[in-house]
Amino acid sequence: MPHILIVEDEAAIADTLIFALQGEGFGTTWLSLGAAALEHQRQTPADLIILDIGLPDISGFETCKQLRRFSEVPVLFLSARDAEIDRVVGLEIGADDYVVKPFSPREVAARVKAILKRMAPRASVDVASALFRVDPERVQISYRGQPLSLTRHEFRLLQCLLEQPERVFSREQLLDALGVAADAGYERSIDSHIKSVRAKLRLVRAEAEPIQTHRGLGYSYSPGHS
Ligand code: CA
Repeated sequence: MPHILIVEDEAAIADTLIFALQGEGFGTTWLSLGAAALEHQRQTPADLIILDIGLPDISGFETCKQLRRFSEVPVLFLSARDAEIDRVVGLEIGADDYVVKPFSPREVAARVKAILKRMAPRASVDVASALFRVDPERVQISYRGQPLSLTRHEFRLLQCLLEQPERVFSREQLLDALGVAADAGYERSIDSHIKSVRAKLRLVRAEAEPIQTHRGLGYSYSPGHS
């Protein structure tokens, strides 16, 4: 079963999480400092990290930032205030989901399951296109043999489109693929990610337009335009 690293300085909160997660069959490790969590993840990688934002040493944001330098492990943030959520969702901090305290431990366990389920099939999918090569392990996509320099969100976005050629994805569905709550009014951010991905694809082949816009609907990957 997947192993979950809980990084939370309040023992009572950690206890309820450990209880709920173990009840679902997950293995758990509990640490209360960001620096210790980074060290632990380097040595013994967990499958998912539940990360409190308010930690005694370095903040959850800083922990996640440093984590992303060497790991793509899914991160679920625990937030004490709604105001922190704007940073989680707005910035490209690399979060997969978040919950606001006080939360139901069962809800957190359900979110953990949902994130792991979302990640699992993607890692094993072969993209049926010689033009694009997706390497989920290294979070790398090559286009016409050239590695693209993508942010984490851009990688997920393009990966999602490539997996189902010609399927039109709504902005909401794409946000979901990024692990961002679709009700948060961030649908427009998809447009800017798409714009950025297109610019990077054009650097490889200026005249190609593999990502098609469908007015009022969303976006699709069209191999015919690659
Ligand atoms: Ca805390």
